[in-house]
Amino acid sequence: MDLLDTLTAKGLRGEVPTREEALAVLATTDDELLDVVAAAGKVRRRWFGRRVKLNYLVNLKSGLCPEDCSYCSQRLGSKAEILKYTWLKPDQAADAARAGVAGGAKRVCLVASGRGPTDRDIDRVTDTMAAIKDADPEVEICVCLGLLSDNQAERLKAAGADAYNHNLNTSENTYGAITKTHTYADRVDTVQKAHGAGLSACSGLIAGMGETDEDLVDVVFALRELGSDSVPVNFLIPFEGTPLAKEWNLTPQRCLRILAMVRFVNPDTEVRIAGGREVHLRTMQPLGLHIANSIFLGDYLTSEGQAGQTDLDMIKDAGFEVEGAGEATLPRHRADVAEAAQSGGGCGTAASACGSGGGCGPCGGHEHAPLGEATTVAPEGANDELRDDLVKVRRRGAGTELAPNA
Ligand code: SF4
Repeated sequence: MDLLDTLTAKGLRGEVPTREEALAVLATTDDELLDVVAAAGKVRRRWFGRRVKLNYLVNLKSGLCPEDCSYCSQRLGSKAEILKYTWLKPDQAADAARAGVAGGAKRVCLVASGRGPTDRDIDRVTDTMAAIKDADPEVEICVCLGLLSDNQAERLKAAGADAYNHNLNTSENTYGAITKTHTYADRVDTVQKAHGAGLSACSGLIAGMGETDEDLVDVVFALRELGSDSVPVNFLIPFEGTPLAKEWNLTPQRCLRILAMVRFVNPDTEVRIAGGREVHLRTMQPLGLHIANSIFLGDYLTSEGQAGQTDLDMIKDAGFEVEGAGEATLPRHRADVAEAAQSGGGCGTAASACGSGGGCGPCGGHEHAPLGEATTVAPEGANDELRDDLVKVRRRGAGTELAPNA
């Protein structure tokens, strides 16, 4: 297939495909799917070998958010019966983080619901990071606290944060249909603040909100241009009690095509299968490992994933290996770029602007119409079946008396 030969050759050289080529990946048929996965797999192995980076989520503050992101179970007015609690104490968060690291996680992701942190919140997170790094100085810490004000990114960097997550989530054109309380430009600004302060930018998307193929390609190219070092690909978890509860638009095959498109556009960037992995890829998860080089271990912010040991078994059975603490995630040339940005020498690739997008992590849900009603029809092959039996609200780990899943 000419398309896949072209994409493989470009990916092996670290070149970005055209927008038309990216759209063509999303338009491939199920008969072509294994060829698509194989082509993306060659690019993945070129830059990341058979390593899988494990990341561990600690939800520092859950629910009760004043923002109205439609996809999020923690949003204003959410009826989802999730855990709701205020800030964990540093030692509580460190205990949860330790469980993830013991399970094989290289990066701990500290996430709090809310529009953005106060300066007091930055103090809390500073104390939490100190408690985590006291126990394990090598652990990478990514912080996700929403929109940043001036100087907060610098404070987080000085306190030991390695990265900041804020997802763009969807295209600029359709952002207003999923969130009214902040804008796409706000998100870009926060990613730029984080990147400008020398934090590695983690920014990704959510697929399955009724968006068009063009929206997906737009946001993925935007992430590339912003110089995101890691791109979490979330698949919408349609939580009961959120406006997108009935948006079951994804099939495992569609998810694999989306992952492959993200990989081709970001050949040498960490691509992470994030929230919704178990819900939407289901038994096809191991094929996703041939495309992505990173996953979350165990549970998500407000929903439960499969057992941490099952994640580890899956990685081993599929012929991959967990990336060690001493191993660099990004290829050397990307690390050079990141270091140059952190030393104030600029950001991204030559073609890139600073930053990436943001927002909170994979919390899965606005009173506004789903994107699908306004902008598109469900993609061909969409899953008409409601699979809300697959959505399991988190009842263990941070904020509970029960042990974390790691
Ligand atoms: S994604 Fe973040 S900002 Fe948006 S509603 Fe959820 S917790 Fe609040």
